[in-house]
Amino acid sequence: MKDTYRHKGMRRKLIATLREKGIRDEQVLAAMEKLPRHFFLDKAFEEWAYVDKAFPIGEEQTISQPYTVAYMTELLQVNKRDAVLEVGTGSGYQAAILALLGARVFTIERQPALYSKTKTLLEKLGLVQIRTFLRDGYKGLPEFAPFDRIIVTAGAPKVPQALLEQLRIGGRMVIPVGTDQQTMYLITRTGETSFQEEKLGAFRFVPFVKGIPDNDPFSS
Ligand code: SAH
Repeated sequence: MKDTYRHKGMRRKLIATLREKGIRDEQVLAAMEKLPRHFFLDKAFEEWAYVDKAFPIGEEQTISQPYTVAYMTELLQVNKRDAVLEVGTGSGYQAAILALLGARVFTIERQPALYSKTKTLLEKLGLVQIRTFLRDGYKGLPEFAPFDRIIVTAGAPKVPQALLEQLRIGGRMVIPVGTDQQTMYLITRTGETSFQEEKLGAFRFVPFVKGIPDNDPFSS
């Protein structure tokens, strides 16, 4: 994996685009300028890494659009050492951005093939602050809760109760809610049983699917 001057130049342009689109958080922009996004796409599609678009990564999944990653990460307001739960590892790009911001990242994926591929990539990149799990994200990771921050990168029909329960009091969750199209929700836990909910922009995500795929070819 090589990060050339040409890649760096394309990344600078992408960051300029994100600024024009309204992203203001300098730490988020710096992390995105530093991290080679083309490492997270197959080599054949390298050119697409620095266009502000989502892109297919196999298993009918996509790497989120750079603007979406920047927008969600800005909303999340990550502090160094925060325990952050990500649901929907996908390519691992969002998890890597969170790690560059100093978070301790716990990320869950339900697709076995994507899970293995991304786990290998993140290890190769030396991102040891990221722990990957092959699980159903609807259930979160109760054994590591509470989390300071939770980010869901698939479109959920509603906010999963387990995730609300795993958010620390004072913590923030960013989650796109809706079926065909999603509204970005920013949820803050204000007390043991109280939450504050803010509805923000419209986005389009791949669906948040319940359960782990059944890999047994002989089961009906
Ligand atoms: N954050 C990713 C974007 C991933 S797209 C990135 O930066 O590339 C959404 C991902 O959520 C897909 O990989 C999909 O398989 C996964 N997903 C959907 N439902 C899930 C669930 N219940 N648990 C865990 N992952 C889920």
